[in-house]
Amino acid sequence: MAQRSITLVINILKDSLVKVNSLNTFVFRSFFKPASSAGTEEASSAKRSRQESPQSNGKIGEPEKKIQRKSEEADNRNAKQNVQTNGKNKDTKKASPKASKTSPKNKNTSSPFKKQINDIKKEIKQEKETVDSKLNITSSPFKKQISDAEKDISNEKENEKSDSKHVEVKSEPKSSKDDDASKQNSSKDDNANVKKLSVEANQCGAEYNPASARYHPIKDAYWKAKQSTPYLALARTFEMIEDTKGRYKMVEILANFLSSVLLLNPDDLLSCIYLSINQLAPAYEGVELGVAETTLMKVIAVSTGRELKFIKTQTQEIGDLGIVAERSRVSQRMMFTPKPLTVQTVYQKLRTIAKSSGKAKSPIIHDLFVASRYSEARYIIRSLIGKMRIGIAEKSLFQALATALVSSRGYDENYKKKKQSEADIKKDIEDITFLLKTAYCQCPNFDKIVSTLLTHGIDDLLKYCTMEPGVPLKPMLAHPTRGVSEVMDRLKGNITCEWKYDGERAQIHGDKNGTVNIYSRNQENNTTKYPDIINRIDHFKKDTVQSYIVDSEVVAWDIEQKQILPFQVLSTRKRKNVDVEEIKVQVCVYAFDLLYLNGEALTSKNFEDRRQLLRDNFNEVEGEFQFATSCDTNDPDDIQGFLENSIKGNCEGLMIKSLDNDATYEIAKRSHKWLKLKKDYLTGVGDSLDLVVIGGYIGKGKRTGVYGGFLLACYDDENEEYQSICKIGTGLNDEDLSTHAKFFKEHTIPAPKSYYRYDATLAPDTWFEAVQVWEVKCADLSLSPVHKAAIGIIDPEKGISLRFPRFIRIRDDKSTEDATGAQQVAYMYRNQDQVKNQKTNAAEFDDDFY
Ligand code: ATP
Repeated sequence: MAQRSITLVINILKDSLVKVNSLNTFVFRSFFKPASSAGTEEASSAKRSRQESPQSNGKIGEPEKKIQRKSEEADNRNAKQNVQTNGKNKDTKKASPKASKTSPKNKNTSSPFKKQINDIKKEIKQEKETVDSKLNITSSPFKKQISDAEKDISNEKENEKSDSKHVEVKSEPKSSKDDDASKQNSSKDDNANVKKLSVEANQCGAEYNPASARYHPIKDAYWKAKQSTPYLALARTFEMIEDTKGRYKMVEILANFLSSVLLLNPDDLLSCIYLSINQLAPAYEGVELGVAETTLMKVIAVSTGRELKFIKTQTQEIGDLGIVAERSRVSQRMMFTPKPLTVQTVYQKLRTIAKSSGKAKSPIIHDLFVASRYSEARYIIRSLIGKMRIGIAEKSLFQALATALVSSRGYDENYKKKKQSEADIKKDIEDITFLLKTAYCQCPNFDKIVSTLLTHGIDDLLKYCTMEPGVPLKPMLAHPTRGVSEVMDRLKGNITCEWKYDGERAQIHGDKNGTVNIYSRNQENNTTKYPDIINRIDHFKKDTVQSYIVDSEVVAWDIEQKQILPFQVLSTRKRKNVDVEEIKVQVCVYAFDLLYLNGEALTSKNFEDRRQLLRDNFNEVEGEFQFATSCDTNDPDDIQGFLENSIKGNCEGLMIKSLDNDATYEIAKRSHKWLKLKKDYLTGVGDSLDLVVIGGYIGKGKRTGVYGGFLLACYDDENEEYQSICKIGTGLNDEDLSTHAKFFKEHTIPAPKSYYRYDATLAPDTWFEAVQVWEVKCADLSLSPVHKAAIGIIDPEKGISLRFPRFIRIRDDKSTEDATGAQQVAYMYRNQDQVKNQKTNAAEFDDDFY
């Protein structure tokens, strides 16, 4: 306890010392800043960041090259200016050597900063007095240490003074002998400094390397058992991952770090997982940070004393506010040395930011930013922006976690590696990855998964992480087909065809307490959008039903004509907090699957059984709750006829589903057990695409005053980027154009986001935030030298673009990350007849978690 108090007191006094130092340095820098301060600032910050930031590993990427070039240019400018300034000083000295020698003091007394300096000094004094009084220092037994520390401060002050003199003397002419001696001394000093820095960096974790080939989870971690996991260790892990190309290695790096966490402080595992995939809570809880990029820029500017304009320009040049933040942070002078960040603190603070409203967010962000060291600032800012840009999504996380779990139990009590064959390790990792994925599919909640792992172990994971009403599942999705013959080729066993309703997917959850929730295709809670369904649901379920999860499509319904209305009608309905009294658009639920009934998950049952259970336990009420119209047939003519009927019935086409025994409900998978056959697919590419609008081209002629065309992109989740796929101007009527112009006015950005991939020749007049998804149809897909969609999948250099794209509608129910993915684009490209004919072995698009 006594020892802790001593440390506390000394730390406080040291902080004051740092404050005095930084004050003096600030004063000194302010006085001796060469004329072009911006250039100098830029140069020195870039230089410092090159020297001090461990992130680069000697590699300099394009943005870094740019910065380096700029920095070198600025260095040259400064060198010139220094020569001029020195020349001037010489002249002044000749005129008045005395005045020159004492000039720093003189400058201090006559300085415009005098007031600030005195204010800060006063502040330090006051702070010390407060601390003194709080700790009752005068009567404290630590008086000696305190007076020693005070002496330290005054010595430091003296040194500062002599430093200033030294600097002043520096401009006096020197003999070459002096020069040599000072060069030798300074090189000795430099070497000592480098050594000291490297020892410090090593101790504080700036050189932590989870990418090392023979990583040992205890020996290679620089923190100790039960000690909170330093955030810097996670930031270093992100750095290493970012610098790595291969997915296998990326997973290995994350696994190494996680194995250390599992062995040293498993309580930190949850925060590490959430921070790695940049989530704060289960997706369905909808916890969002809600921090605008401009807010972050302002915080960085305020915290570092840099100009907002400078931060903005740098961000535009580098294309990554995270890097700009890191560089600004490195060059920032510290008043106090904040406590090192831990993963828990960062995670908790991010949660607090999410919960705080508007202005209350900035001070918390400021605290986090100021406490960050090395690359921490980069990843904190990226977390806040919502793009980590390290390419770790859920899929890689499961593999890394499985590897870490296997690795961490591969050590004996002395942390020596147990003997285990490579084949066994590989098999264990595969099995555990599968268990984790399955658990996550039925219970997409890391809080629950991690707590189960830590308390019950992996073997009991599926016992505890079960499906339950109130926790939305990622839905099973279908593959597109272009005609009945393709359907017959793909599904060999028994099949059923269902009408494909054109509305909104609704997962209806009812628990045994009578609580009902409705979730969208993206697990958003739509309960308040459909109070009418909630009110009526009890009439549809039979008495046998206590709890359930029904998969269905909600469509707009014309009560008078007793028929389905187009999707456009449904889209006019209010999105949240709908008042039953005010409902104008009536809806009907078309139920097509039952995933859970009375405490039991049905997903491992085949579709025929699930469908039977649905029909047995629910009642149809016309225009309110109906089963999807279906026809079990393998006859192509019947299917064709049924397709035509579905279109007459205002549907989009058919969903064709396997009735085989293995046709389970595949959560979170685009499965080949379900095929979709839309009326519009019958020719063309087989499906429409859902694309993100990233820019607009100013309209001319009849389209003056609105955007004449737009730049669209698909989303590549591997690289977490939007890749341009086409320009679009067709299918947009005047009303659409003015709606889009109004909407995007609120979402323009001064420069493209760093995660937009496009060719400079396609740069639109205005860039937009990635906020809206459009459904688009096209004649076909072709390889493109300019567009970047799916680049590297089909061709190493070329992307894929859409020919004759046509706007269909806005997809409000899809987030931009749910837009058509790069892999899907590649699949659609390959699946075209003309491409298939060229390449008979066109790769299949596997069923996989999406
Ligand atoms: P995807 O969901 O495949 O990404 P999408 O959201 O653009 O694509 P569609 O291509 O229109 O949707 O087709 C799948 C959707 O069709 C389902 O998500 C569901 O909402 C809807 N649907 C309508 N009727 C049915 C049905 N009978 N069975 C299954 N889904 C149906």
